[in-house]
Amino acid sequence: MSKKGKIKNGNNKAKHTKLLNQKKNKIREEKLLNKQRLRALIVKSNLYKDACPCGSNKTFGNCCAIAHNNIEEVSTAEQLMRSRYTAYALGNIEYLMSSHHSLTRPNKEQDEILNWTKSVIWLSLEILNSSNGSASDIEGTVEFKAHFEEVGATQVIHEHSKFVKENGHWVYLGEV
Ligand SMILES: [Zn+2]
Repeated sequence: MSKKGKIKNGNNKAKHTKLLNQKKNKIREEKLLNKQRLRALIVKSNLYKDACPCGSNKTFGNCCAIAHNNIEEVSTAEQLMRSRYTAYALGNIEYLMSSHHSLTRPNKEQDEILNWTKSVIWLSLEILNSSNGSASDIEGTVEFKAHFEEVGATQVIHEHSKFVKENGHWVYLGEV
């Protein structure tokens, strides 16, 4: 074997080792990704079995998760209110946007809202009053108190909210 041939073989070997390592890394990455996916699934299924943050005494899976998965399933303004509180509690910004009327939707403040809601601890939701907002209505109001803890202090948002139907489903319009 000539010297040139040996070098070539050496290069091939290096190339082969490189490819083998790349393959090994790829397998390692895939395994890690599968583990992460599995963990996310477990977290999700546990969350579905947990009490719903809105305080309905139902599991999240049997309550606000239905709304979060398909907003068209929400039949009353109060249900929409509850599902929005739960979305705040879980940091579901996509739902907070899709359940907001397009005319008043705070698109530009999305990051700010998400960061804020993740920084507080949502304690409970109290529904004080509601008017109209049934399945057959096209508008309704809900008065509520949302209790949360921010930087160690208990706070409350007391709001009388207006809900209307847009594209055939309930959305939050704003304060009455
Ligand atoms: Zn709920």
